[in-house]
Amino acid sequence: MKALITGGAGFVGSHLTERLLESGHEVHVIDDLSTGSIENIEPFKGRAGFHYTIETIMNAPVLAELVDRVDVVFHLAAAVGVRLIVESPVNTIETNVHGTEKVLALANKKRKKVVLTSTSEVYGKADTVPFREDGDLVMGPTSKGRWSYACSKAIDEFLALAYHKEKRLPVVVVRLFNTVGPRQTGRYGMVIPNFVKQALLGHPLTVFGDGTQTRCFTDVRDVVGQLATLAEAPAAVGEVFNVGNDREEVSILELAERVKARTGSKSEIVLVPYEKAYEEGFEDMQRRVPDLSKLRALTGYEPQVSLDECLDRIVAYFTSDATRL
Ligand code: UDP
Repeated sequence: MKALITGGAGFVGSHLTERLLESGHEVHVIDDLSTGSIENIEPFKGRAGFHYTIETIMNAPVLAELVDRVDVVFHLAAAVGVRLIVESPVNTIETNVHGTEKVLALANKKRKKVVLTSTSEVYGKADTVPFREDGDLVMGPTSKGRWSYACSKAIDEFLALAYHKEKRLPVVVVRLFNTVGPRQTGRYGMVIPNFVKQALLGHPLTVFGDGTQTRCFTDVRDVVGQLATLAEAPAAVGEVFNVGNDREEVSILELAERVKARTGSKSEIVLVPYEKAYEEGFEDMQRRVPDLSKLRALTGYEPQVSLDECLDRIVAYFTSDATRL
């Protein structure tokens, strides 16, 4: 296939680029380097079939030109990371809503398939784990900034599904559950790169809240494999899929212990109240577990990478280049 990856210099985008190039596909990347980095795509420069453009997806003429050249658009460009969202809510809402609007409108004009990456964050405070794609989304009030991310991504989903229903545009919506791996930065609040850096530097590991909240972490290689498969599955069109790892649900406190064990760190673990970590009145979700039966039925997916293996690769990523710490 010929693919355009918006946000291709980001963490997930660069792994998807790598996977598609390895499978012999042509890849075009557009990224404004707002949260992505040139370092992430450096190894692909000069490789057959790889092209990149450093530009925002808001630049419609440039985006149109790129959409023209491909068969499928993987839309990954978005504002992500709870810290970024709490600190820059205007940018989060505008990037996520207007960016997706532009991508869908242009893809529709050129009749190109769109794979929209959404997030498990859209389930919000729902407590009916595991989360099924047809389950209710439970949001907090608009006065609490965190929910703007979930709502902005939910609007993206509505719009993509509306293009499918009303204009027969082929779209696939994918909800990612805590994707982790090398190249993810801790700058925007993600827990694993933060813990790994803290452990390697001998700093305290900062567990927010009481640490009993749980997550299911998914290795980025499992994620990009499913993105590529879903893009080529005719039965995925017009559908929403969870992509995650349901084998291991860990509490954040347990995760901190695991990171200490994998790094051999003597760092202490400290509990930081949410209002200090983020902002007054911050609401977290207690559990987040994917129901993967819909995905399994279509693609035969089974998560391949365990959390420990994943942690070891992340530790190696940080220790191999001290400037990453
Ligand atoms: N978290 C933490 N310490 C950190 C960063 C995050 O305890 O330094 C917690 C965060 O409050 C949440 C969980 O780890 O409960 C996962 O956070 P992340 O931002 O990685 O993803 P989220 O699941 O919130 O989208």
